[in-house]
Amino acid sequence: MDLEITPLALPGIEAKRPMVIAGPCSAETEEQVLETAKQLSNNGVKIFRAGVWKPRTKPGGFEGVGIEALPWLQRVKAETGMLLATEVATPKHVEAALAAGIDILWIGARTTANPFSVQSIADALKGTDVPVLVKNPVNPDIELWTGALLRINSAGITRLGAIHRGFSSVDSKLYRNPPMWHIPIELKRRFPSLPILCDPSHMGGRRDLIAPLSQQAMDLGFEGLMVESHCNPDCAWSDAKQQVLPEVLDFILDRLVVREEMEVTESITQLRKQIDELDNQLMDLLTKRMRVSREIAEYKKLHNMTVVQTTRYSEILDKRGAQGVLCGMNPEFVRTVYEAIHSESVRQQIEIMNK
Ligand code: PEP
Ligand code: MN
Repeated sequence: MDLEITPLALPGIEAKRPMVIAGPCSAETEEQVLETAKQLSNNGVKIFRAGVWKPRTKPGGFEGVGIEALPWLQRVKAETGMLLATEVATPKHVEAALAAGIDILWIGARTTANPFSVQSIADALKGTDVPVLVKNPVNPDIELWTGALLRINSAGITRLGAIHRGFSSVDSKLYRNPPMWHIPIELKRRFPSLPILCDPSHMGGRRDLIAPLSQQAMDLGFEGLMVESHCNPDCAWSDAKQQVLPEVLDFILDRLVVREEMEVTESITQLRKQIDELDNQLMDLLTKRMRVSREIAEYKKLHNMTVVQTTRYSEILDKRGAQGVLCGMNPEFVRTVYEAIHSESVRQQIEIMNK
């Protein structure tokens, strides 16, 4: 299934990439909303975000002000001319947000993970043409993300975008939600016209990671950024550690190097030829390795041995991991490659053992 996309055509700082959506994690008070919005607007930000309904992982946290915050957002629009964006998680939120004149809706990570919720939002959106941004689901599942986009698109919403905010992980030390860039890259491969924004705030979970993550997103050709910004970040009622002052955001955006997709030049074509040749050699080598592995399977079968000898497997992972580091590669990358090679090897051996 494909997506039917019409351009979002949302403004960036100077009507160019990146589109920038900024504002506090949550609308807390009328003063906080207006003060933050005015500072952002003075720096050229044209789209204001604020969470009115907050999905909290645990009960007891600040769950958002709710509909009472909508008139504050309307004041932002009246006084600054900014477009408004907020998160919706239920049909009631959709109705209230649209009635209040919110210009852009987004679906949060916890909601995208639930097809029932996404479908009920899609049903509530039928007959409207509001732009909708779909955050990735909390878990690294591209099908779930795609499914949510398709559901919203099927409701007739074509001004559609995705927001990459990273994925939860049990063992992440640096990031709150590790980026796993290959997932949004695959989404872009499947739907080239789908705009993707990066949310470095929820990804990093830390102020100091906003700049490097935003730069990485620009280097990968993302269309925009959604960044949490607050007039008094340390005292924010939610996500305090990852919010920045509007002036800090301005500093970060100012230093972003925005690269454009250029025509492919002759020197890149030559380098790509080399890569193609190396990939051919890699495939040849892998084929040979699998052939030897199948010969081992014949031997194991003859001598009634088990397919996997764990000590041997650990030896391969350790040896190649260490070699990878010496060659300037990330040890986790080498481990992933060898785990994949080993698993295909085991699959082929089991096939032979059961013949
Ligand atoms: C948010 O944008 O404030 C938010 C709750 O984000 P996410 O859904 O990505 O966790
Ligand atoms: Mn937040």
